[in-house]
Amino acid sequence: MQIVRINVKSHKIDYKEITNDSKYYLLGGRGLTSQIVYDEVPPRCDPLGPENKLILANGILTGSPFPNSARMSVGGKSPLTNGIKEANVGGRPSLMLAKHGIRALVLEDASLELKILVINKNGIELLPGKEYKGLGNYELHQKLRGKYGENIGIYSIGPAGEHKMLSATVAANDLEGYPSRHAARGGLGAVLGVKGIKAIVVIPPKESKVSMHDLKKFRKASTPFAKHLVEIKKVFSTFGTPLMMRIVSERQGIPTKNFRMGSFDKISEISGEKLHELVLARGGKKGLACSPYCVIKCSNLIVDEKGNHITSSFEYETMALNGTNLTIDNLDSLARIDRLCDDVGIDTIEFGGTVGVAMDCGKIPWGDTNTVFDILDKEIRNNTDIGKLYGNGVKNIGKKLSAQRIPEIKGQGISAYDPRVFKGMGVTYATSPMGADHTSGAAIAGRVASQFKDYGELTENEGKLDLSFELQVYTTVLDSMGCCYFIGPSYENMAIITAAINAMYNLDLTREDVINIGKKILKTEIHFNEKAGITKDKNDVPDFLKLEPSEPSGLKFTFTKEELHNFWKKLD
Ligand code: SF4
Repeated sequence: MQIVRINVKSHKIDYKEITNDSKYYLLGGRGLTSQIVYDEVPPRCDPLGPENKLILANGILTGSPFPNSARMSVGGKSPLTNGIKEANVGGRPSLMLAKHGIRALVLEDASLELKILVINKNGIELLPGKEYKGLGNYELHQKLRGKYGENIGIYSIGPAGEHKMLSATVAANDLEGYPSRHAARGGLGAVLGVKGIKAIVVIPPKESKVSMHDLKKFRKASTPFAKHLVEIKKVFSTFGTPLMMRIVSERQGIPTKNFRMGSFDKISEISGEKLHELVLARGGKKGLACSPYCVIKCSNLIVDEKGNHITSSFEYETMALNGTNLTIDNLDSLARIDRLCDDVGIDTIEFGGTVGVAMDCGKIPWGDTNTVFDILDKEIRNNTDIGKLYGNGVKNIGKKLSAQRIPEIKGQGISAYDPRVFKGMGVTYATSPMGADHTSGAAIAGRVASQFKDYGELTENEGKLDLSFELQVYTTVLDSMGCCYFIGPSYENMAIITAAINAMYNLDLTREDVINIGKKILKTEIHFNEKAGITKDKNDVPDFLKLEPSEPSGLKFTFTKEELHNFWKKLD
């Protein structure tokens, strides 16, 4: 497998094979993006300057038939957090890149001219991309498919990425061909915008360059695991992440009115169950895989009353941050917000959090759906002053409006689980080197890091420091394998991952060796952040979460500064 470095200014392209003795040998996905950022990006550099790099790396199991293993990590220095960032994404292209023999693309320098990068069996080309300027992801992907073929893989930015907005995403096309999957968090779409790359087009190769040492041994580990996942995730496959709407509201931990409350009186109007009925009644789709080899298939496709596609991959976090948080209680409106976010290329979580702050400050009435549509479709798309206000994230708008309640940590908006109620998630938000990112160690209701340990009640502090620590380590391993974390970041699953790596690479690793890969990556990320000025003092939540109880639970965030500052000591 190769690491390919592309200078977007000079067009110099350098291909380097990852050999057995390379420091990158067993690094893929987040492990590889973070190591390259650590080695090559000056920690104090401007994330929107030429010194930052944008790295796309697939996992070390990508290209194998391991379940849910075809995800892509996008990494760089985040314009939102100013620290190290990895956002991972499903979609078509990751597996195609692996089959081309490419483990990572490293985009270097900056370009004022818009370009596209085309990867095919003959190599990589940088081509003029002026004709695609200003296009939303939907129209862009349609044009690229028309030119390069229906079955291509695409990574791209929408107008928000071109405008270098801090919440901009990197979009990927899903298996149905829609630009619905996004490496959303941290504003890495703006970094791709600085590189001047509107799209990366991957022409699928006929044959795969991925090598597998012992397929029989590999299948012995992966096949029973895949069957087990299909069995235990049936409900999740049927309803997808929207199922969390009612559950989290009942747990009194769904962000409502800019995190003033934790449950929503009209939740039945926008629940996962209602969405399910609507999708079935209109002829939409459920149980879709967002990327090859996914066996859980939690994704969906939403259509309107006439059967026309509105959006795909309509997720819980999008519904909560733009629904309950803004008091928008209509599924069609939320689906349209999701589509517009996908089209302009904005993180739905950061966007919902940003609008929540504006509504809380009285700048927009609660539940004003039409204004939200206009902000996305007119203001962000056209880079107006209003667009910049809403495209640059929660922290930025909070400062601009002198807001008292700004739900962000290390510069990134808090996701859809109130940290006063979901105590383990609160610890993850506060301590993750990625900022308030639920995917870093998602301590949601019922999730444990080992089935043989007791991590205490969801709403109590007891056991949550351990739970968050373990989930963050195991999730880092999964992110580095190219695996979706829905397969379960657990101590037990680390043994299955170990067996798969050993069979694929002819190694003799132990489970502890693999867990140590995760720990080492986290150490690297924390060290980079320290050099960037994000020290352990920043492991904290905003004061309002400690002072104001969430209603109706009456709960506050009660971990001490000392507990959060010392959180990563176990890595020493
Ligand atoms: S489980 Fe869901 S998010 Fe994960 S790879 Fe499958 S469809 Fe995508």
